[in-house]
Amino acid sequence: MTKKQEKQWDVAVIGAGPAGYVAAIRCAQLGLKTVCIDEWINHAGEFSLGGTCLNVGCIPSKALLESSRLYQQAKEEFAVHGISATSLKVDVKQMQARKQKVVQDLTQGIQTLFKANGVSLISGRAKITSINKIEISDRSTRKKIEELHARNIIIATGSSPVRLQQAQISDDCILDSAAALEIDKVPKRLGIIGAGAIGLELGSVWSRLGSEVVILEAMQDFLPMVDKKLANLMKRSLVNKNSASRLDIRLNARLISAEVKNKKVQVIYEDTASSNKRGEIKERFDKLVIAVGRKPNSDRLFGEELGIERDERSFVLVNKKCQTSVPHIYAIGDVVRGPMLAHKGSEEGLMVAEHIAGNFAEVNYDLIPSVIYTHPELAWVGKNEAECKAAGIEYKVGSFPFIASGRARAMNESEGLVKIITDAGSDRVIGVHIFSAQASELIAQAVLMMEMQATAEDIALTVFAHPTLAEAFHEAALAVNGRAIHIKN
Ligand code: FAD
Ligand code: AMP
Repeated sequence: MTKKQEKQWDVAVIGAGPAGYVAAIRCAQLGLKTVCIDEWINHAGEFSLGGTCLNVGCIPSKALLESSRLYQQAKEEFAVHGISATSLKVDVKQMQARKQKVVQDLTQGIQTLFKANGVSLISGRAKITSINKIEISDRSTRKKIEELHARNIIIATGSSPVRLQQAQISDDCILDSAAALEIDKVPKRLGIIGAGAIGLELGSVWSRLGSEVVILEAMQDFLPMVDKKLANLMKRSLVNKNSASRLDIRLNARLISAEVKNKKVQVIYEDTASSNKRGEIKERFDKLVIAVGRKPNSDRLFGEELGIERDERSFVLVNKKCQTSVPHIYAIGDVVRGPMLAHKGSEEGLMVAEHIAGNFAEVNYDLIPSVIYTHPELAWVGKNEAECKAAGIEYKVGSFPFIASGRARAMNESEGLVKIITDAGSDRVIGVHIFSAQASELIAQAVLMMEMQATAEDIALTVFAHPTLAEAFHEAALAVNGRAIHIKN
């Protein structure tokens, strides 16, 4: 063995997305000799840390959502404030360049953090060859670069977009979510398959910039995991021709085929709700985005003989502490069960690092907030009404609409509401659901309330600054017991 091959580590983390890089930094902070291996090559052909989240997920999508919202506000909403903005133009290339700069700065920031904390980094594809051995090969040539030994291994390999057989990805016209973030000219007609968070956010970006956006969703319910009342409110808002989004969302629309002809995408879908069962519908789009979910990256990562178990959908099986069926091999983030969210993966990374160092830590899986960054935004944490009913929990509800909020009115953002669900017996808050401007920021207060096991009474007795959107929590908490001041109880 060469010297290089003999390297011995306390922890080897495979994957430098928000799960892996956070785990690696914490391990190093705890005094563990840590290496992180990643294979990501970005659009410019450069090695880039941060995984899906920083390169083609959370960050670039939010950068484009921000830019497109500013344009739309200037175009359609400034006038009401008495500001005229004529001759507005969108320079999509500049918008993309700004997004790229945001991504580049943040991904390079991880390299700096690795250096500052003493995390070693290897660029290449990792494969676990025995319970404490990892082989690293060149991403393109597949040639072995080196081999390392680690007392603990953390699998944080993330996920990739699900592909559809009936709609093969083609460079120009049929795109996955990553390519949809790189479009450099506003498509006239944009089709999106899948009305999940990613489809709705990407649809919002391009619709605000002027595309006619049609979203085809196979299911009959819109956002079935969301509190029914808020899902209905959101759907009504997104499809409204005068709304910020103007999305044409078609439920019960099952994709049959998509083909590129003369640089256009010919789509055939079935309206499964139609009484006329022959109901195949044809559409033509300039571009089609496939946003039908993501699948875990666990194939070819380890041999069966190692005994690391996976479920039928290829998620690596773990316990509450994110330990796999093999001692000292952990798995975190999108590659394991639970919501595919960056913050969920990061928290698991922190927990596993502490566990390896012999400390106690856990993740409160009941209180992981979810956000959909449309306008207005949708954010929720804890149980919704349907889940309370299914669990036989007696509950109370207090709601407050933003139309009655002074700050929301002053901001011209009076759409939406806050809904607080409490346990009828203990008065503890067990769910908070928000549809409003800045719901992504407001939800943090709800998570804190619930982590501190606040009751509606506690929130009712808390002083909120006036005028703020957050006052809606105060009023909704008062409303739980019929004491709201600014609405009729
Ligand atoms: P990833 O971020 O996927 O990182 C995995 C890393 O592992 C990658 O860098 C990959 O190169 C590396 N890797 C994989 N296999 C190997 C191997 N064999 N060897 C070496 N390296 C390997 N989540 C949110 O919470 N908020 C959002 O607003 C949000 N928006 C999103 C928008 C879009 C368009 C998309 C696509 C996703 C979004 N997500 C969002 C989801 C979020 O990006 C993921 O949940 C998150 O990135 C998962 O983190 P992870 O570390 O588990 O995996
Ligand atoms: P998410 O998993 O939240 O990103 O959402 C993906 C959405 O895509 C889900 O709501 C799926 O129902 C939807 N979907 C999956 N396959 C198809 C299909 N063939 N046609 C239309 N919608 C689909």
